[in-house]
Amino acid sequence: MADIRRILVVGGGVGGLTTAASFARRGVEVVLIERRPAFDIPGVGLGQPANALRVYDLLGVLDQVLTTGFSYDRMWLFDAQRQPIVEHKFLMGDDRVPAFCALSRLQLHEILLDAAERAGVKVRLGVTADEIHDDGDRVAVRFSTGEQDSFDLLAGFDGIRSSTRLHVSGTAFAPRPSGYGAWRVQAPRPNDVRGMEFLQGIGSKTGAMPLSNNIMYLFHIRPEAPGASFDGQDQVALFRERLAQYGSYVAEISASLTSESDIVYSPIEPLLLPWPWFRNRVVLGGDAAHTFAPHLTQGAAMAAEDGFVLAREVMNNDVSLENRLMRYSMKRYPRCAFVYTFSGQWLLDEQSVRTAEDMEVARAEMTQNASARIGVSDRILDNAF
Ligand SMILES: Cc1cc2nc3c(=O)[nH]c(=O)nc-3n(C[C@H](O)[C@H](O)[C@H](O)COP(=O)(O)OP(=O)(O)OC[C@H]3O[C@@H](n4cnc5c(N)ncnc54)[C@H](O)[C@@H]3O)c2cc1C
Repeated sequence: MADIRRILVVGGGVGGLTTAASFARRGVEVVLIERRPAFDIPGVGLGQPANALRVYDLLGVLDQVLTTGFSYDRMWLFDAQRQPIVEHKFLMGDDRVPAFCALSRLQLHEILLDAAERAGVKVRLGVTADEIHDDGDRVAVRFSTGEQDSFDLLAGFDGIRSSTRLHVSGTAFAPRPSGYGAWRVQAPRPNDVRGMEFLQGIGSKTGAMPLSNNIMYLFHIRPEAPGASFDGQDQVALFRERLAQYGSYVAEISASLTSESDIVYSPIEPLLLPWPWFRNRVVLGGDAAHTFAPHLTQGAAMAAEDGFVLAREVMNNDVSLENRLMRYSMKRYPRCAFVYTFSGQWLLDEQSVRTAEDMEVARAEMTQNASARIGVSDRILDNAF
């Protein structure tokens, strides 16, 4: 008989919703708490690679994701004027799932929220867990509403600033500033943007990801001071200044920015929590356990995989709960460590292009090796989780 009958999921992002739906579909009673009072998710869009799409398939929402988003099977590396350097056809996907499907973050959340609620998950908005007492047999929680309840397991998918992480590993591990940040804005999709694009500049990189037939998002990655924030009135001017070296649609989008443009800035703050990702009956996943440079577009994908694998391992009731949670940690850590290392190195390599001479060296190197390099990553990540 299952020893996990009732769980609390903390956090309603991609990871928390996937976890909640995965447990509920296995017959577990699930309560999900989300700090935000509404699912008005900030952010722009998410590229979801084949490995994430396979999780959505297992949750029964693949068709919804594919009809909502924009599927593509390749990426292009260009220079700052959008002169081609490399075209890479992804070695991911199969007859059922495309290599990638990108969609707005809000639309993906809506699809996953619907899947969770249909599976019976009880979603409570505007609620946090203020106190967690874990005596090894049960996790007792006092909510911000003053109510108290107890659960067989608490799954913390509460994002990069996770407070559940404090319960598992104290303050020893936290995301650390990389010295780089990402700017993003939505824009109309030019017809010839048919997949992910990276435009390598000098001292920065810019790119595009199509989100639908009409819309894409533009991103720009560059050195930024740790703790920098760009919410003020001069945000448009600062973004424009940063895009100045780029031609093609980047120049057009830059010229069209206004104070109404929804520009989002996020620092890149990588974290890889050493395993195990649990203590007694409190377990972590998603950005609470790992955050990456965005280059492989695998952050939400790994969060979704974590949630699915956690439910699968915990509900495979063959050994003690401790051993099942250990098995979850051991399955997830190497895969996330690969994404952490590969995307972190990509960030450093591209940002080390600082002069015109560096650019010519990088152009030659990318022409020769980039597709093979990305292909290895495709094959590793396309493997079953
Ligand atoms: C520039 C950039 C581009 C990216 N592009 C991609 C991409 O293309 N593809 C991709 O797969 N990933 C991408 N990512 C990564 C992706 O955004 C994250 O990895 C993903 O959102 C993590 O999901 P999560 O559910 O773990 O955390 P989150 O999405 O952060 O969700 C955590 C949730 O928990 C809630 N919460 C926090 N604290 C509490 C609390 N105490 N109690 C209750 N609720 C709480 C939060 O409000 C939030 O809703 C990108 C990231 C960046 C910065």
